[in-house]
Amino acid sequence: MYYPQPQPPPSIPQGHRHCPRCTYPLEVRVQNDVTIDACRRCGGSFLDLGKAGRVVGEDADPHKWPKEVFARPPGPSWLRCPAGHGPMWSFVLGWEGRYVEIDGCGVCRGLWLDANEAEVLGSVTSQAKAESTRPGASKGTAAMVGLYLVQLATMMPVEVYNPVKRRPWLVYGLILSLIALFFIEMIFIAGVGPTVLQYTALVPVRLERGYVHTLITHAFMHGSIFHIAGNLYFLWIFGDNVEDRLGRLRFSILYLTAAVVGGLAHWIGNLHGTTPMVGASGAIAGLMGAYLVLFPRVKVWVVFFFVQFKLRAIWYLLVWLGMQFLLIFDKSSNVAWLAHVGGFAAGAALAFAMKGKGAPPPALAPPR
Ligand SMILES: [Zn+2]
Ligand SMILES: [Zn+2]
Repeated sequence: MYYPQPQPPPSIPQGHRHCPRCTYPLEVRVQNDVTIDACRRCGGSFLDLGKAGRVVGEDADPHKWPKEVFARPPGPSWLRCPAGHGPMWSFVLGWEGRYVEIDGCGVCRGLWLDANEAEVLGSVTSQAKAESTRPGASKGTAAMVGLYLVQLATMMPVEVYNPVKRRPWLVYGLILSLIALFFIEMIFIAGVGPTVLQYTALVPVRLERGYVHTLITHAFMHGSIFHIAGNLYFLWIFGDNVEDRLGRLRFSILYLTAAVVGGLAHWIGNLHGTTPMVGASGAIAGLMGAYLVLFPRVKVWVVFFFVQFKLRAIWYLLVWLGMQFLLIFDKSSNVAWLAHVGGFAAGAALAFAMKGKGAPPPALAPPR
């Protein structure tokens, strides 16, 4: 059967359009293999239907916007479609305190983006999409079930969405060094016996006799494969964003200071003790403290009593910290909880002092 196709409305072709803000002629530019209309004067640009996904990011295409990102229902806009379809619609999209107002044409479904809106639109829509899907969902059901079971068994959190702008080379290097040092340590213990630990592990009574270097060296050794695996996972989850935000120098200062403060806290709680303490946990707890200060709004997926749910990093980390405090009083435990709490506090305090110098992500005011 034949249905007449509705005729597309007459459109002003590219190269003849004008900026809806400043009436300047829009110039045709090629970006990511598609042609867009850009205003040289105000920096705004018009993207025809389907081009937002190519230019801004896959999730920026209007038909992929999840309904959760609409901060308020669409309303009339003051701007007119550059392709000649009259007044556009105004869409206010928001997620996690970041808002962006986009103008879209109801006829040709093109989008008008002001100068800095593309970046916010990309981050708002991809964050909303990532946060409304379970971990591994993008890789299929098997990955999703697998991650759930791993979380159930290990109680490890999975970060919901916190991309880094640069590759975290320092964290990668740290992970490789810790693995290498762990194997060297195992070879020494197999050859010489566990007495070698006396020189590099933190033994309170030896620290009192001047083994000050152990405040650092203990943080580069681990007691077992599970011990190092757990620590490296937390380093990988929380470390990359802290390195990204603070930079390598401040990250290194924070990491080593947290190791020393964690060691000192452990020493104060175990004066004249003779049991050796090893592990990067204090330093990594410092990264968790820093993460809490730098990214309190980011969410993590957790599995608790068989239920998988997401919660803000700040709540996860505060519960984690509370558990450390409770376990201080559990004398049968062999985990250095005081080192965790000391390292965490040092990391949070340093991140608080350092964060002002980094460039925070641009945030728009919420709509009125
Ligand atoms: Zn303009
Ligand atoms: Zn239009």
